Amino acid sequence: MFPWHHTLYQQLTASFLAERGHHALLFKTETGLGTTALIETFAQWLFCLQPQGALPCEQCKSCTLWHSGNHPDFHLITTIENKDIGVDQIREMTETLQQFAQQGGNVVIFIQHAERLTEAAANALLKTLEEPQPKVYFLLEAPLQSAMLATIQSRCQTWLVNAPDFAQAYEWLQTQCPEHSPQEIETALRLCHARPLLCKKFLENDRLPQRKAFLQTFWRFYKSGDVWLLLNAFDKEQENALAQLEWLGSFFSDALKAKMNITTNWLNPDLQNGILPFSQALTPQQLLKGDQILQQAQRDLREINAVNQELILADMLTKLVSEVFGLA
Ligand SMILES: [Zn+2]
Repeated sequence: MFPWHHTLYQQLTASFLAERGHHALLFKTETGLGTTALIETFAQWLFCLQPQGALPCEQCKSCTLWHSGNHPDFHLITTIENKDIGVDQIREMTETLQQFAQQGGNVVIFIQHAERLTEAAANALLKTLEEPQPKVYFLLEAPLQSAMLATIQSRCQTWLVNAPDFAQAYEWLQTQCPEHSPQEIETALRLCHARPLLCKKFLENDRLPQRKAFLQTFWRFYKSGDVWLLLNAFDKEQENALAQLEWLGSFFSDALKAKMNITTNWLNPDLQNGILPFSQALTPQQLLKGDQILQQAQRDLREINAVNQELILADMLTKLVSEVFGLA
């Protein structure tokens, strides 16, 4: 569990301590917040034989079993090899539920990626949710934006897990990445939309200097109109190429901010020397057009298979030159 979970965790356990706990909880979460860790701590607490208020005791037989990773009454249902959660996985779980809880206490079913339940699986789960059994708890995790079957959602109590505020995320990252300067942490946090875990990975993987080098190549591309120069700087992995497109987008959005004399909340405060002249050289229309071209390329990359990645990027760069920079 992470610091940004504490308030929600307190509210959650308080509702159970007041015997108002719901048998089915849906955690809708933004990405990069480590919400699985919150759900697992809560499950451990539900199992604990001598909970210390809102926290598990870490000493009892249940807590020991939990930490060994094989508590017999904890059932995890998740995607297997990135395939949707099928009806067989739900049936197997309901059959297990027919038997009495092995430890005589609570039973917890954790459905991770609940948005990936097939329709048949969701309908099978719905039946189980509609006939609650004592001491059986369902914990579902799904992304905030996902379309869940409304019937499933209506049987659950929903808890929203939001990104922490900037200051809290910043404070946590300082303890996690002490080797990075305050400026580096701040920049990385903005680029990662204040998602602390994503940001930690970003810093640890040295993405900050990689971003700087990439945007410097972009600058040379802008000056020369040399499509190949920037095309070769794109990563072959789709996920990384998408991140690079986001970096480009951040360059354009900072340039737009500069155009409107907004000097705060820049995503790339360390690249002012490039962004300011870039912003001065282009009209707002050109900057907006560039931003649209980048967004279209992001959508195309996500939707079209990766074989065409180079083609999509080459097309995008050509458009930037001809429609935005006006060099062609
Ligand atoms: Zn315990």
